[in-house]
Parts: sequence; C-alpha cells; structure tokens
Amino acid sequence: MSKVFVLDTEKQPLDPVHPGHARILLDCGKAAVFKRYPFTIILKAAIKNPEVHPLRIKIDPGSQTTGIALVDDGSGKVVWAAELAHRGQTIKKALDQRRAVRRGRRQRTTRYRRPRFQNRRRPSRWMPPSLESRVANVLTWVKRLARLCSLGAMSLELVKFDLQQMDHPEISGMEYQQGTLFGYEVREYLLEKWDRACSYCGIKGVPLQVEHLQAKANGGTDRLSNLCLACDPCNKAKGTQEIQVFLAGQADLLAHLLAQAKTHLKGASAINSTRWVLYERLKQEGFPLECGSGGLTKFNRTQRSLPKEHWIDAACVGRSTPHVLKMAGIVPLLMTATGHGSRQKCNVNETGFPCSRPKGAKKVKGFQTGDIVRATVTTGTKQGIYVGRVLVRASGSFDIRTKHGRVQGISHRFCTPVQRSDGYNYTIGVRYGQESPSQAASERTHHSSPG
Ligand SMILES: [Zn+2]
Repeated sequence: MSKVFVLDTEKQPLDPVHPGHARILLDCGKAAVFKRYPFTIILKAAIKNPEVHPLRIKIDPGSQTTGIALVDDGSGKVVWAAELAHRGQTIKKALDQRRAVRRGRRQRTTRYRRPRFQNRRRPSRWMPPSLESRVANVLTWVKRLARLCSLGAMSLELVKFDLQQMDHPEISGMEYQQGTLFGYEVREYLLEKWDRACSYCGIKGVPLQVEHLQAKANGGTDRLSNLCLACDPCNKAKGTQEIQVFLAGQADLLAHLLAQAKTHLKGASAINSTRWVLYERLKQEGFPLECGSGGLTKFNRTQRSLPKEHWIDAACVGRSTPHVLKMAGIVPLLMTATGHGSRQKCNVNETGFPCSRPKGAKKVKGFQTGDIVRATVTTGTKQGIYVGRVLVRASGSFDIRTKHGRVQGISHRFCTPVQRSDGYNYTIGVRYGQESPSQAASERTHHSSPG
C-alpha cells in the first residue's frame, strides 16, 4: 500500500502511515491535508523527539522516465513509488524555435555584422538544457521527499553494467549463462557492444543468445573478446564450426567481427554523462549514496520475478535491495514535468511574426496555469464536477484538462484550488497486482491529468 506522508505541526517529517490511519486522523480532526500530490497530512500537534525510521530513496534514471521508490530496508516494504516523466524534447524544441525567431529578427531589422563565435563561454560542467532539466527534476524530487519523510540513504543506478567487475573475466569459471549476477552484467555489456543485434546476420528485436566465436567444445574461452551475440537460427547454424569456416564466403563480415570482438567498450560509450552529473549532485545532498548497475537491477528484478515498470526497477537498484520486496497495493504516482510557463512575451506564427497580444498577468482571479482545481459547475450547459489542471485566460473563463479530456469555458467562480502549480502534473498510476502489465501499459499512454 502506498503510504501517506505525515508532518507534525512544525513541519517535521514523521513516519509515513497507512491511508486508513491517515483517514482516521483527518476524520477526527487531529490532522489536515497538507499537500495533495504526493498525499501528505499535517498533524495539529508538535511531536517532541519523534521516533522515525529512515527510508532509502532509490532512483533509476532514464532519458524519458525516471523511477523513484522509497524502501524501508529493515522490513523490505516499498513505502511509496513514483514515475517521473521528463520534458527533454519539449525544451529542445522551444530553444530551437527561439533561435529561429531571433535569427529571423536579426535578418529583418539589423545591419549586417560579421558572425562572432569566440565570445561564447560555457562553464566546465555545462550540459545541454534538455539534459540539465532531467538532472534538476530528480534533484527537485529528492529534496521534496526529504522534506516529507526522513531519508537515511540513497541508491542510484549509475552505470549500465559494472566494468570493474568485468575487468577480470579470466577469473576461472566465468558464467555467461542467464541466472547469475555476473551473467547479467556480461549480457548488458554485450548488448551494448554489439548494438543489440545478431553479430552474424544483424537482425534486431529478437531474443539474442550469448555466443562463443570459438566454440567452447574447440577450446574457446569465456573471455569477453571471444563472446558475441547471435539469434537462435544463426546460433544453431554455426554450432561448433570454426568461425572462419562458418563465415567462409563473407570475408568482410569476418574481418569486422574479429576486429570488433577485440575492442573493449570503455569510458564514454559505457557511462552516461547525465548520470555522472546526477551522481555528483546527489552526493552533495549528504546522504550515504550506493551505486548499482543496470545488470544488477535486472538481476534483482528477475530473481524476485517482478514485472518491468520504472518504479519497480527503481526499487531493485543496488546491492542493498531486500530479499523480499513487499509492494502489494502500491499505487505509483505518475508525475510529468511541465515547467513553469515561458518568458516569451507573445506568440509568434511559423515565420516568427508576432501573432497575439502581449501576455497578461500570470495570475488571473487567483489562479494560474498549471494549478490543479476542482470546478463544481452549477449552472449552464456544462453542469458537473471537473477536476484537473487549469489553463487560465484573462477573461476569467478557464479550460480544465480532466481525465476524460479538455473542458473549455469554465468560469473561475466555480473553481477551488486542489494544489497550486509546482511545475509538475500528476496522475495516479495502476495499483500493483491489480491489472496485467500490458493493460497497465496501454492505460498509461492515455493518462494526462489527475482525476
Ligand atoms: Zn542471426
């Protein structure tokens, strides 16, 4: 069960409680709702020296979606989980558009100047804004969660596979088969090295097997330089033949294969720079930080026979993962980064020409775009209750994006705020164990706003 965060009246974080317990506290007036997303209640009394159990925050960073899970190491319980959708492409598009508009304006209104290019300086740790935003999103949530519950440690999936472990493949009895942790690391490594394709025929998107260039029956070793990936038909066709015999007619492919096998995948190709920046910034938060590899995450998840979800992957990051992860009834919170509006003063058409009036005030009748509101419409044709993210207009007639689509022309008089805009939109995910993963996946592509 996803738990509810609890603060005391001084906003000191306490242990999260079961939603039923929170309901009792709210009903008997001992607490009030502090925040809707993530659901947090605030007690009406101060607790002196409370006994709190620190939780571990586990993060599986992804380019589109980052999984976050709060796990109690002692009991193995997943306390809370979320999936954070980033807005990388949106940022890139907005910046490209801005650049085009500025270039157009310079062409139209400025005399010719020689291009200047050596006056640009970037800080040494500069990252493209789209990547910077991913890192910032994760840091934002680590900081927000640290204010809502007591964090004791962090786990981060830092690398896809553990190169350090694979630096010594000659250690006897290297197991390349599925089922061992080392096997998972090797597989991840080979998938990356051989571009997730069959080394012989180049087919993609089919199950691939670890393949020995020189068959083990002929004295081939388990070293990484003797391993590649093959699809089932190729693997069967090759059997124990020598590679030179199997690829007799294809000299080019043979040469390429042997050269590729000798190379080592190292450094930049194996390690994602965004994750390193995230690692360094998380270290500054001051919690003990454990690093895991993608191979280890997959191993942990498969060993516990858990389905593939971002938040479940997050719960499986690192060696500290408890033997049994208790996650019955967890409902992940789906958070989508939306940004905080734009600084652009008015809209432009496709040629960069201003096509709207200057933007008005951000706040209209006490609401701003991005607030989550509840509108109870009592008159007119749109009678009903609508809950969702609001888009404000200076006229006071708002649009609300609900679970079932966008509703236009709702007067501000009917709206009450549920949660003020904080740069994210929220949806409730699918309860763990309730539906089949495929159903859950199709459901997830349709979500847009909370209900
Ligand atoms: Zn093949």
